[in-house]
Amino acid sequence: TCLRQQHRMLAREATLRRLASTLAVLEQRDGKLNMSSLAAVSAAQKLGNNVHAFVAGGNIKAVAEAAGKVEGIEKVVYVDNAAYDKGLPENYAPLLVENIKKGGYSHVFAGHSAFGKNLMPRVAAMLDVQQISDITSVESEDTFVRPIYAGNAILTVQSDDATKIITVRGTAFPSGATEGGSASVEEGVDPKAECPTEWVSEDLAKSDRPELASASRVVSGGRGLKSKEEFDRIITPLADALGAAIGASRAAVDSGFADNSLQVGQTGKNVAPELYLCAGISGAIQHLAGMKDSKVIAAINKDGDAPIFQIADVGLVGDLFERVPEMVEKLKAA
Ligand code: FAD
Repeated sequence: TCLRQQHRMLAREATLRRLASTLAVLEQRDGKLNMSSLAAVSAAQKLGNNVHAFVAGGNIKAVAEAAGKVEGIEKVVYVDNAAYDKGLPENYAPLLVENIKKGGYSHVFAGHSAFGKNLMPRVAAMLDVQQISDITSVESEDTFVRPIYAGNAILTVQSDDATKIITVRGTAFPSGATEGGSASVEEGVDPKAECPTEWVSEDLAKSDRPELASASRVVSGGRGLKSKEEFDRIITPLADALGAAIGASRAAVDSGFADNSLQVGQTGKNVAPELYLCAGISGAIQHLAGMKDSKVIAAINKDGDAPIFQIADVGLVGDLFERVPEMVEKLKAA
């Protein structure tokens, strides 16, 4: 009898596992789905469960429908309420918790973006579980891999929490097709929690360039550029010639050569473009942490011993003030 009971329990567990579903929290801005947040879907798919997606904000129906076309999503849960537009975590966390409980999700994934980093620890605290941050690989239902110490060590984390609350590194989970899916779209629960925080305003750096975190080419400049004027004069034409996003080292940002939103590295953005071309950047470990997964790394530096050359696929030892304009001329002529 005991054995039969055990068999029954195992069979029930297996059925539950098959029915278990995973929630991917997607981001939106001004009624548009944020494509880089689809990394959460790619990570969720690694578990092989049904993947549901969650979006919230005012007039969210169009975003929900766009998410419904993403391949691999079975159902989109949406909450239409302008109070969630800006993703204020004080507001959004109780909302997400209610929807996690309603859906009985075993795993919840979000991007390791400003939004995800702000939201997911609160959600984990409210559910009394430990949050798992910035994963680069899903090994199994309870085991995940994440880099620590600016990528110098790789940690394998095993969690026995009932609900896994996870943020994912976008560059490790390329998003799949955004057309061809046919998810059902369904309204979620809205707890309309009192929010102690009020959205006042935002000051955004505007640019017509590709978004740094998802661009296929990035041109970055460092302290070697000497001034903001020189940074703009040298780096901008090269980025234009390559149709690239512009990045910068922290030294360049701290010296006021480039906007804070352009910083690449441990305390900036993670990028993994097809081409990362940098000039006047020494290659400090904290900078490498944000770009070392780029497919081709090209570096220009006047110091042949600069550490950047240790990870560069292509290196040019020379003065960037001569070499970069030459390169721009050749690109224009090509
Ligand atoms: P430098 O190290 O000063 O290098 C300038 C380079 O330019 C040199 O290699 C020089 O040879 C070259 N050069 C100068 N003139 C020319 C010329 N005419 N032609 C060609 N080459 C020239 N850094 C980041 O980038 N991102 C981060 O997110 C980040 N986070 C950090 C977090 C912490 C906790 C700490 C402690 C540091 C962090 N840093 C970060 C800072 C990092 O340690 C380095 O100080 C920084 O990356 C250096 O920037 P850089 O390479 O532009 O400047």
